[in-house]
Amino acid sequence: MKYVDEYRDSAAAGKLVAEIRRQATRQWVLMEVCGGQTHNLLRHGIVDELRETVELIHGPGCPVCVTPAEAIDFAQQLALRENFVVTSFGDMLRVPGSRDSLLSVRGRGGRVKIVYSPLDAVEWARRNTDQQVVFLAVGFETTAPATALAVLQAEKLGLENFSLIVAHVRVQPAMEALMNSPDNRVQGFLAAGHVCAITGFKTYDQFVRDFRVPVVVTGFEPIDLLEGILECVRQLESGRAEVVNRYARAVRRAGNQSAQQVVARVYEIDDRPWRGFGSVPQGGFRLRTEYERFDAQQRFGRGPTLQLPVMSGDGCRAADVLAGRLRPTACPEFGTRCTPDFPLGAPMVSSEGACAAYYRYS
Ligand code: SF4
Repeated sequence: MKYVDEYRDSAAAGKLVAEIRRQATRQWVLMEVCGGQTHNLLRHGIVDELRETVELIHGPGCPVCVTPAEAIDFAQQLALRENFVVTSFGDMLRVPGSRDSLLSVRGRGGRVKIVYSPLDAVEWARRNTDQQVVFLAVGFETTAPATALAVLQAEKLGLENFSLIVAHVRVQPAMEALMNSPDNRVQGFLAAGHVCAITGFKTYDQFVRDFRVPVVVTGFEPIDLLEGILECVRQLESGRAEVVNRYARAVRRAGNQSAQQVVARVYEIDDRPWRGFGSVPQGGFRLRTEYERFDAQQRFGRGPTLQLPVMSGDGCRAADVLAGRLRPTACPEFGTRCTPDFPLGAPMVSSEGACAAYYRYS
């Protein structure tokens, strides 16, 4: 299959591994930002194959994992209110908030509905005007265009029973927070290719100047990942720090400007809390003033707080895993009290979570 088979070619992968080893005079510490990259690095054995040459630290790029517990808690509160239905992508249902998950709230009678697109939630609101339909809007710059379109569609339809819990986050500010952290060890980044497909990568020019680290826009197939690693190693060995696009079949320097425009029309950049990071300056989006009537927090955030049972997530080191300070297998709960069937934390729940990746592939 074109654009797939050639990026999984084992002979080509072997040559890239050999070249990375030949170039490296020491072990370098790189971070792959995206959880999808983490899964493929483990699935294809690249982490182990290059262990002596490159230490790969797994980044915070799992949108489900970094969604703050408060957003999930609020969704649970609304799901239990009369005439409310909370809509969400399916992978959010098992993610623990500070006390519980949406799935268990649904088991106790909460109204939680899985949708495949924010526009499905708008359509549900159009057909059920007796319900307040709230969409849990999570994800990076990749999903923000779709929720912005949903807001515009709800406005066009004149819906007064549709709103969002806005928990969208932006990747680059989290990378800046990592670099500013006193215990940072990252020397180069594999930037998330699908995010850059929307945002482009010209904003990394300043990042590279500020922090003197290579940033290589990288895809998800084994050859993509190895080419990204090789580019980082080459730069580090020659003392360079540049932005390079190694995912040219999907990413342009300016990104997808139509998507950027729809996001900019509906959202503005704001400081946002990230699970594992705390408040990240300019780390997410909020609805612009003219769309605040679609903000569930503004409309319904002052209602009575219901008591939810405390979740047994004690001992979860998700914050350290998400900030790259702890390898999942070093968590004392990994594979014992915490498994994909009985997860204690979001990184074991999500299909992009680092703990789930290690459980599945290591
Ligand atoms: S293994 Fe489980 S308990 Fe440990 S950090 Fe990951 S999700 Fe949390």
